[in-house]
Amino acid sequence: MNDYQPWEFTCKTCGDHSLTVTHIWAILAGPDSESWQEWGPLDADHLWQFEFKEKVEQDKDDKGKVERGDFGEFAEDDSASKPEEFEIFEQESDPESDEFYVNCAGCDREIEFGWSQPDRGGRIFPVECSDFIPGERK
Ligand SMILES: [Zn+2]
Repeated sequence: MNDYQPWEFTCKTCGDHSLTVTHIWAILAGPDSESWQEWGPLDADHLWQFEFKEKVEQDKDDKGKVERGDFGEFAEDDSASKPEEFEIFEQESDPESDEFYVNCAGCDREIEFGWSQPDRGGRIFPVECSDFIPGERK
């Protein structure tokens, strides 16, 4: 039963039938903020598993130019509160920075997709799948 494939994707560029789901998110930790990505195949039931995970390397050339001035102003304006609090950067994930991508596993072409529920809930339905029904909403 698990081998049943209810939908079919055929890449019009390379002919591949597999799709890769990628999730990219940021971990906010002050100057040490990081970006991570994880990815894995989209399964027949429109669910997916992330099989790989790695840190996204930032472009180091852009660092250090912007930060200095911003932090200086904060420190001067806030003499009433405890300044040491600004030195502690708690790690937290930023939901706003979460991004999902669906790509062809063969040629890495980006495929548009929709969610089966609002707010990125439910399953992933790439538009080029055979069972994608545009505008189906409840
Ligand atoms: Zn392709």
